[in-house]
Amino acid sequence: MLLKSERELVIKYGLRMLEAGLTTGTGGNLSVLNRKKGLLAISASGLDYRETTLDDVVIMNLEGEIVESKRKPSSEAGFHTALYKKRSDINAIVHTHSVYATTVACLNMELPAVHYLVGFAGNKVPLAPYATFGSAQLAENVSETIKNFNAVLLANHGLICIGHEIKNAFDAAEELELVARIYIQALSAGKPVIVPDVEMEKVIDKFSTYGQAGGKESKG
Ligand code: 13P
Ligand code: ZN
Repeated sequence: MLLKSERELVIKYGLRMLEAGLTTGTGGNLSVLNRKKGLLAISASGLDYRETTLDDVVIMNLEGEIVESKRKPSSEAGFHTALYKKRSDINAIVHTHSVYATTVACLNMELPAVHYLVGFAGNKVPLAPYATFGSAQLAENVSETIKNFNAVLLANHGLICIGHEIKNAFDAAEELELVARIYIQALSAGKPVIVPDVEMEKVIDKFSTYGQAGGKESKG
């Protein structure tokens, strides 16, 4: 079996997406890339995360060709492969329909630095223009919008987070959902005050030494 440990991560974090309330039903999808082999493990399309087994995870190459599978890959395989090609620093992608991030996306707004935790993405979460789910146009819009950010909102759809490892992408999805919730609440109560870019630069720098590991990817 190819990419067994990457398949295990796809299953583990698919379940965590559900447990954390970041998606419902079969919404969202996720993948883990093995750059040395040039192959990724991606969730199957429309399959219950709770019923997904190792055999159900699809292995494909960066050209989107299926290498080992008994299932149809996620309909969003296009933006997964596009992001891996665009960003050589990432090895995992988590896509959710989490409620507050999606609310911001449905307002066709970016998520600004209303709270310093937006630093999981950068100084904001940019918004990719709307295109039909699973379309080549959506993959192109995402690829053009991501730049150096670690997350992107999809207009009228949801959120994508990317990371060096799947834990980083998942943590970003969880924290950005919190920031989006705070933003919607703050908008409902008054006029949110946005953290200036110069301060966000300090925050993002501080993230690189935050926590026990002190590594680039440990943030909080
Ligand atoms: P898949 O089940 O095909 O991954 O689709 C879910 C989704 O979120 C589409 O954007
Ligand atoms: Zn989706």
